[in-house]
Amino acid sequence: MFDFIVVGAGFAGSVVAERIANLLDKKVLIIEKRNHIGGNCFDYFNESGILIHKYGPHIFHTVYKDVWNYLSKFTSWIDYEHKVLALINGKKVPIPFNLNTLYELFPKPVAKKIEMKLKNEIGDEKKISILKLKKSDDKDLKLLGDFVYENVFKNYSMKQWGRGLEELDPAVVERVPVFISRDDRYFQDRFQGIPKHGYTKIFDKMLSHPNIETRLNTDFKDVFNIYFQKGKIFFQEEEFKGKIIYTGELDELFNYRFGKLPYRSLKFVFKTIEKEFFQEAAVINYPNDFDYTRITEYKHLTKQKSKFTTFSKEYPQDYDKAVPGKDVPFYPIPTKSNHELYEKYRKLTLKFKNILLLGRLAEYKYLNMDLVIKNALNLFNEGIRNAG
Ligand code: FAD
Ligand code: UDP
Repeated sequence: MFDFIVVGAGFAGSVVAERIANLLDKKVLIIEKRNHIGGNCFDYFNESGILIHKYGPHIFHTVYKDVWNYLSKFTSWIDYEHKVLALINGKKVPIPFNLNTLYELFPKPVAKKIEMKLKNEIGDEKKISILKLKKSDDKDLKLLGDFVYENVFKNYSMKQWGRGLEELDPAVVERVPVFISRDDRYFQDRFQGIPKHGYTKIFDKMLSHPNIETRLNTDFKDVFNIYFQKGKIFFQEEEFKGKIIYTGELDELFNYRFGKLPYRSLKFVFKTIEKEFFQEAAVINYPNDFDYTRITEYKHLTKQKSKFTTFSKEYPQDYDKAVPGKDVPFYPIPTKSNHELYEKYRKLTLKFKNILLLGRLAEYKYLNMDLVIKNALNLFNEGIRNAG
């Protein structure tokens, strides 16, 4: 009945399903355990009529023109360039740390000296990782590195990840480098925006093709059986010989046989008030104060007009599949031992010729939306269309 089965209706699963349905004219079943499509990008209008992102702030940004063009088939865009402030030493200053931040937090003569050195040693309009700056031979640049590490990264990261930064892949903090510039934007990517009618509408359009059937509230475990010795997969009592694109947690697929892959979860506490705006930017980070890491106010992103406004406080927490409220695996935790464990599962997957892994969970990678979409388009082109 179906040529392909996709597990998960986030961007990974939905993009692949849409391409198969439209370009190959084959039948696809999408199985999604939640009661909605869109994965973690799901947004909806709350009881006060404010469009909110259920799983935290999502800002689309990419350097890839093909990804931007692809997504633009399903939406037009609100021009939005993301800016973030952080409360440091009692002041709300721009993040990533840049020259404006430097002048706000250091006395002018010191800031001037550091600016000159940054421009001479690293270069005007260049970015540098905080970890490299901390190792600088120059004492003023090292002082800056240590300052940013202590005041912006150390405590935020401890809250976010529940462990010290030294345990994590350096790529985590390299996402937010020091920028030797007066540009206050969080991203410098050429293409940035918020979908004009929200993310969920994109998914509605992607999955509206008659070749796609979406089953919500369905866990793959309830409909699949995997037989290890035979390397076979049974779907509703019959062997399924088509391809399965799996975008969920890989340890779960194999019933945790090598142990659990760790993830970090979040708790969002939403509040709506009758006021035009609650805070001065879409996102304000609190590295050193409070138990939450950041507050997001959604109207800044969506530019919606209303006398109400909704914001959310974001509390990081351990992931526990068995505990409601802690059961969303928001972030893979990129440590060496976790990657080794993931590799064991990935190798096991190779025994099943028809399972393809895709997305943030199944690839166990800290991927932004654009890379998930890029990987999905590549998998479709190379692993499905050209593989026959
Ligand atoms: P998901 O969106 O997680 O979708 C996977 C789907 O599979 C889920 O719907 C899940 O319910 C389903 N599933 C899992 N297991 C099963 C099962 N057993 N049976 C059936 N269904 C199953 N990226 C950006 O580019 N910009 C941002 O600003 C940004 N902000 C973010 C903020 C936060 C707080 C987080 C956590 C992530 C953010 N991201 C952002 C990343 C973005 O959310 C991901 O890149 C994207 O959602 C990944 O899509 P996916 O399809 O791989 O995974
Ligand atoms: N980070 C930090 N302080 C900040 C912002 C970011 O320590 O003010 C660190 C933290 O470890 C975080 C990582 O940089 O997990 C990546 O930040 P990003 O804003 O990309 O996180 P995301 O939006 O994906 O949660």
